[in-house]
Amino acid sequence: MDCIFCKIACGEVKSRIVYEDDKTLAFEDLNPQAPTHILIIPKNHIESILEAKDSDLQTIGAINIAARNIAKKLNISDFRIVSNCGKKAGQSVFHLHYHFLAGRRFLWPPG
Ligand code: AMP
Repeated sequence: MDCIFCKIACGEVKSRIVYEDDKTLAFEDLNPQAPTHILIIPKNHIESILEAKDSDLQTIGAINIAARNIAKKLNISDFRIVSNCGKKAGQSVFHLHYHFLAGRRFLWPPG
């Protein structure tokens, strides 16, 4: 499968990894939108949250635990996690990922 995040997950494409556990991998975004911009992905290929199966429950939960662990590891208390689902919502890579953003103020509601 020609998926850039699958290639990162298996080490075929290099990335700046900040966190890893058995189900997830987190690495720095190439085009950061905040001083801290990390992508958290499941190691297995899930196209988006819409394509997640009930059997992915543990993996989806692990992504939130990864976010917690990253925040603790980097001593970050204020952050945003967001997942774009679908082209119109801004999704450009079709392997589920959560943006972990920190280090500046964020608007609410988002633009
Ligand atoms: P989205 O637009 O929500 O699908 O987010 C995809 C994100 O992946 C963007 O913020 C890109 O900058 C980032 N990205 C794409 N390719 C890479 C890569 N090889 N390494 C790190 N980040 C990437």
